[in-house]
Amino acid sequence: MIQNIWQDFLKIVREEVGSRVVETWFKAVSLQRWDALHKEVHLQAPNTFVRNWIQQHYLSLFQIHLGRLLHVERPKVIFDSTVPASEKKKKDISKNGLEKKESNMYKAAHLIPFNAIHANHALLKKSSTYKQNGYINQSYLFDTFVVGPNNSLACAAAHAITEKPGFLYNPMFIYGGSGLGKTHLLHAIGNGIKRNHKNMSILYQTADRFVNEFINAIRFNKIHQFQKKYKTIDVLLIDDIQFISNKEQTQEAFFHIFNSLYDSHKQIVFSSDTFPQNMGGIAERLRSRLAAGLVTDIHIPTLETKIAILKKKADLSNEVISNDVAHFVASQVVSNVRELEGALIRVIAFAHLTKQPISLELAKKVLIHTNKNENRMVKVEEIVKGIEKYYSYSLAQLRSKERSKNLVLARQVMMFLMKKLTNKSLRSIGDFLGGKDHSTVKYAISKVEKKAKDQADFQKKLHHIEQEIMN
Ligand code: ADP
Ligand code: MG
Repeated sequence: MIQNIWQDFLKIVREEVGSRVVETWFKAVSLQRWDALHKEVHLQAPNTFVRNWIQQHYLSLFQIHLGRLLHVERPKVIFDSTVPASEKKKKDISKNGLEKKESNMYKAAHLIPFNAIHANHALLKKSSTYKQNGYINQSYLFDTFVVGPNNSLACAAAHAITEKPGFLYNPMFIYGGSGLGKTHLLHAIGNGIKRNHKNMSILYQTADRFVNEFINAIRFNKIHQFQKKYKTIDVLLIDDIQFISNKEQTQEAFFHIFNSLYDSHKQIVFSSDTFPQNMGGIAERLRSRLAAGLVTDIHIPTLETKIAILKKKADLSNEVISNDVAHFVASQVVSNVRELEGALIRVIAFAHLTKQPISLELAKKVLIHTNKNENRMVKVEEIVKGIEKYYSYSLAQLRSKERSKNLVLARQVMMFLMKKLTNKSLRSIGDFLGGKDHSTVKYAISKVEKKAKDQADFQKKLHHIEQEIMN
């Protein structure tokens, strides 16, 4: 399925160029079709600005990784016409001269290296000290985190533990959808504790990295050093703990580390995309440890909070944006702060390159075809509830290996809806459903798609379940 290829591509390049580049430039692009005969990948960009930028800076990246996924060497990457006919008409009669500036800008942009344009752009900077100080990113602070009704509890608790780590809320477990600020808060806790307790040793670690470290420790016979490292720190911040799902041995090792730290009042903070009870493939005794302290969630920000975030982000990069621009950008991106930030970066970059002020008109121009699909993001819990209700199976049954016909279908529909309505990867959907690998999930989704295509009544049912979940 071509869409899966695109999703896999995004995942791979995210590792290579970082989330920020993906959110800013690639997320707005869609893969239209693959012409195997001519070895051409056809893409569509939301506007010429994004298209040119990608062609200039990332073409080779696209060729290498799309080539790998499509099993050809260096396919041609072709951007199909960007602007739909209706837009073009408007564009032709537009009198504001923006197009002209735009086209001059493209010429100019070809001459300016990316780094030169953005060398001073705070929003695009990655912390250079990322790998020092226990992997803590020093630009993620409480000061740079906007508090709103969606995150106030999590933020207040996070702040409180920086005063008295290990005693107030231990462990602390923050969960919520992607791009809502969990990682930011974890680093803010790390930075806060560092400031208040200079001698404490703090370690931020993603669960993925923890798993790899553990595997290497076993491979190279260094398990003793591994345990020692973790047992001697004062604060452990584990991001995306869901990735420890179905890794039994790692869980076992982590369980002992957890107990040792916990017993000596060392602070532990977790982030996850799901509520502990709903995490699949986690040993019961570990799950109960994860949820033993304060469990708090982060929701989707309200419009006001999104506007405040945009203003803060603009301020951090010494830009000023007016209320109407902030309002417009905030209304374009519904549920993911990372994407919100990406949209703002695009607008600012465009204004810089065309040497224009950041006006509403300009923002509209840049974000005109922003992919609004993400506004359908729902929580996994809501999907579980919907499926349980419609098919009368419990989550435990859905996760089991039982294979009665109806249960298999319910499970497949659940995977399909999780892919469609959340931004979970195939891998985390598989983990959630008790350790299925990503190809099983892919297969389940294609089964549901085919069934919906072939059977109108099933399509209706599917639509009905989706509506129930959305409401
Ligand atoms: P998550 O870990 O939940 O996927 P991140 O912590 O990586 O999300 O946040 C994504 C981006 O959004 C980061 O750049 C972060 O600074 C920003 N962000 C999220 N929430 C806020 C907020 N409330 N205030 C300021 N920035 C935020
Ligand atoms: Mg994160």
